[in-house]
Amino acid sequence: MITKHTYVGGQPRPSGLEPFDKLYPATGEVIAKIEPTSLEQLDEVIAEAAEAQKAWAALSGTERGRVLLRAAKILQDRNEALSRVEVMDVGKAIAEAESGDVPSGPDALEYFGGIARDMPGTFHTYPGAVGFTQRVPLGVCAGIGAWNYPTQIACWKAAPALAAGNAFIHKPSEETPLVAYEIADALTEAGLPSGLFSIVQGDATIGRALCEHPGVAKVSLTGGVDTGKLIIKQSADTLKKVTLELGGKSPLIVFEDANLDDAVGVALSANFYTAGEVCSNGTRVFVHRSIADKFLAEVVRRTASIRVGDPMDRDVHMGALISETHMNKVLEYIEIGKAEGATLSAGGNRVRPQGFENGYFVEPTVFSGCTDNMRIVREEIFGPVMSVLVFDDEDEAVSRANDTFFGLGAGLMTTSLARAHRVADQLQSGSVWVNTYNICPPDLPFGGSKQSGFGRENSRFALEGYTETRSTYIDLNNFEGAY
Ligand code: NDP
Repeated sequence: MITKHTYVGGQPRPSGLEPFDKLYPATGEVIAKIEPTSLEQLDEVIAEAAEAQKAWAALSGTERGRVLLRAAKILQDRNEALSRVEVMDVGKAIAEAESGDVPSGPDALEYFGGIARDMPGTFHTYPGAVGFTQRVPLGVCAGIGAWNYPTQIACWKAAPALAAGNAFIHKPSEETPLVAYEIADALTEAGLPSGLFSIVQGDATIGRALCEHPGVAKVSLTGGVDTGKLIIKQSADTLKKVTLELGGKSPLIVFEDANLDDAVGVALSANFYTAGEVCSNGTRVFVHRSIADKFLAEVVRRTASIRVGDPMDRDVHMGALISETHMNKVLEYIEIGKAEGATLSAGGNRVRPQGFENGYFVEPTVFSGCTDNMRIVREEIFGPVMSVLVFDDEDEAVSRANDTFFGLGAGLMTTSLARAHRVADQLQSGSVWVNTYNICPPDLPFGGSKQSGFGRENSRFALEGYTETRSTYIDLNNFEGAY
């Protein structure tokens, strides 16, 4: 049994604290022991990060970028091995890990490695004086991750932070503590000096300590809305900068002029990718009444062909949910949906695939006949549960889609260009996808509005989030004082 520790500069740092178990979600077996980071160790890690950050920030963006580009290449070359670790962490299907989730990590390193050299400021002229602005790094930044996309989350936060000249400390979710070590190793091999990417392990105690520590300048969380609120409170005394990537209950609107095949395909992937454990999933599927029956019949037919089972089998579409607790929560929501009067049109049960009887698998599940006030429609389930709702006209669809305190993603299916723009413009969410879903290229910002959070991952906006603006004013003449 391997034991993993706090990790600095590619080296383990034992803390002597009681390790916790890391389980493989597909079998429920313990596959690793993880030693939490002690609070004394955290002080050390932060101090070393602060020291290393000074020299890192003094390098040119080009030099920093080269390290990230080398790390991206190392991770890309190891995509298969890395994906296996991501699967051990999350229990998701390897086909998804290899093709999308894991490559999105090095994609971010590649993107931010490329633009690290290009952080323009502004230039201002005055009579006898000039002024300019620069983006300067914040210092030591921390990431706190959710468990659904551990490679992506670590890289989406570390890449802009490092590109901008910060040191980065990552706390993965306790459920998915493994894959971050692969990223740390790649960065070390790529030449990242010790102290600039460190891993701390543990639960909310260590997360809270990161928020409260005066040596940390910024915390970026990917997690639930309630955790986001705690992060703000815990960060208040040190007035930390905070980015929050939180949950969602996103709408997907299927208009009567949509290509039906595409709409069904998009709805399935917007609900069942990563067993539905995706923050931006389009779980409230609004379908125009005139096509609702046909749409539902196709959704049900194609859902039946989704293969659930051994996550390491490349022919499997859907792997396990993250934990027994989470599986039970999802199954409980399915019971709530039935009790609320929604029609169970597909799935609804735990699955016990042969050889994986103790794993946390749930059938892809479709509820139809849903209404807006049902709990399965209002609350984030974070599992493979789609709710289908019917609407009659565009204004109604938009206002019902917006009737939520979440605002992470939204999708619409239409063949009308005018409608695509008109509706996209009215949807209250950080991202809108038209005729597709959950596509997040690294140069396009991703993040929430309303209670789905603030700040952005990816793009130049993320780089801004890991820097602040310094203004410099230079008087070109002798100083003429009043006294
Ligand atoms: P949680 O909010 O439970 O946890 C997220 C992280 O925060 C974990 O590392 C957790 O530690 C840590 N944490 C918990 N409490 C505190 C605290 N008081 N102070 C500091 N850190 C703390 O989310 P889950 O891991 O359960 O992930 C699911 C949630 O994440 C869903 O709501 C989902 O929508 C959201 N999410 C959002 C995404 C986005 O980009 N917007 C993407 C992916 C997920 P630990 O669990 O180890 O104790």
